[in-house]
Amino acid sequence: MTPPLIFELSRSGRCAATLPELDVPPAELPVELLRDDLPLPEVSELDLVRHYTRLSQLNYGIDIGYYPLGSCTMKYNPKINEEMARLPGFVHLHPYQEEETVQGALYLIYSLQTFLAEIGGFAGVSLQPAAGAHGELTGVLMMRAYHLQQGDTGRNVILVPDSAHGTNPATTSMSGMTVVEIPSDGRGNVDMAALQAACQEHGPRLVGMMLTNPNTLGLFDENVAAISELVHRHGGLMYGDGANMNALLGIARPGDLGFDVLHYNLHKTFGTPHGGGGPGSGPVGASARLVDFLPRPIVAVDEARSSDGEMFFAWRDPPQSIGRVKAFYGHFGVMVRAYTYIRMLGAPGLRRVAEHAVLNANYLLSQVRGVYPIPYDRVCMHEFVCEGQVADAPDVRALDISKRLIDYGFHPPTNYFPLIVHEALMIEPTETESKETLDAFAAALRQIAEEARSDPDLLLQAPRQAPLRRLDEVRAAKELRLRWEEQGQELL
Ligand SMILES: *Cc1c(COP(=O)(O)O)cnc(C)c1O
Repeated sequence: MTPPLIFELSRSGRCAATLPELDVPPAELPVELLRDDLPLPEVSELDLVRHYTRLSQLNYGIDIGYYPLGSCTMKYNPKINEEMARLPGFVHLHPYQEEETVQGALYLIYSLQTFLAEIGGFAGVSLQPAAGAHGELTGVLMMRAYHLQQGDTGRNVILVPDSAHGTNPATTSMSGMTVVEIPSDGRGNVDMAALQAACQEHGPRLVGMMLTNPNTLGLFDENVAAISELVHRHGGLMYGDGANMNALLGIARPGDLGFDVLHYNLHKTFGTPHGGGGPGSGPVGASARLVDFLPRPIVAVDEARSSDGEMFFAWRDPPQSIGRVKAFYGHFGVMVRAYTYIRMLGAPGLRRVAEHAVLNANYLLSQVRGVYPIPYDRVCMHEFVCEGQVADAPDVRALDISKRLIDYGFHPPTNYFPLIVHEALMIEPTETESKETLDAFAAALRQIAEEARSDPDLLLQAPRQAPLRRLDEVRAAKELRLRWEEQGQELL
């Protein structure tokens, strides 16, 4: 039993730290910076440790339990990645250091660029973007720059399927382009007739298309080659949203499927914990046509400064670079984790990641079939989408099923996305979960469907077992209160 959470622990005069005796002359404090109205808590070391440990226990994370958050790829990330990222030689680097003094770090960046280029089938990679959405913005700006360089100034339309992640239309708008939405067909593929019509209508204004494959229904678009051919025929380029790369690793390469530029989510596919707002990384890979437009700088071998046995690595600006998209060089700690992850697995291991991700998703799909409706029911890739609805339980919605899952000790799946599925529950088992865990999760989903019919209040009132009852997430996000206030106490 966790004791009740008491927030106000401060007692005047208590202190968690003891400062050593002063061994330098005392200096005056800059009084103008001191505030009297800042009542900092006064607590003992034990109070402090218990407070934060208790808070950490209220959190749900991948190290506690299963996290089927579709599209987010919340898989287990090996701890060795963390150890490598914390090596003092990496941690204490400074971005202004001379190239001669950071050859190890540059070698790591160069190697990761090379690995990602090979994995994706691209001519080059820049590791600058800070996240997936940032990679998307970068890619769209590169496509635009390519057209401008061709003297093609009238292009401003980007085609985006209606199954796309919200960041796709958002980044398109941010880059100043116009979004044209393309519907999906009955099998969950891009509707080819609609795509044809859009290409006809917007042909000379087409920058290109943003496609996620496998898409957010967890389905591999069966017409990807024809889509790419069609868009290219109308002068457009193909942007690939590579957030779902764990379904393809070592099996298919986006560059071979016709994509000109693609972002990877290192924090989804390549071993960095995410979901808590920590740094991410969204490197961008580019085909031969776009490689010169990559954001600068990238790392290259400096032949002139290399000797027989030793390569010298240096920062390089791609000749037509769209410029910097980030201060310095991107999130280096995330790169160390991705490098470690790839080296640990090797090529056969990366392929096994994809095989297990797809196998796990299809196994779980087979366990859910017949319990919840599956609108696009065919062999899935790394995730699938069902409807959070139960026959004979009209009041129960996807949200209630998700909240009830919390009582069973599971993190809910992604809710209400993709938008084209009614009451969507988007489930991604990931490659790292065992059959026992997937069976337990499927059993909970079946049990919840039973409860929905027999005692729907169990769902409508859920969660009952969590530290907090049902929250208004939308209000919590809009009226963000990050500081404890007296009147907030009744929340606990
Ligand atoms: C997560 C995700 C993104 C955005 O990536 P961020 O790193 O969160 O910005 C884009 N597309 C898809 C399909 C995703 O799952």
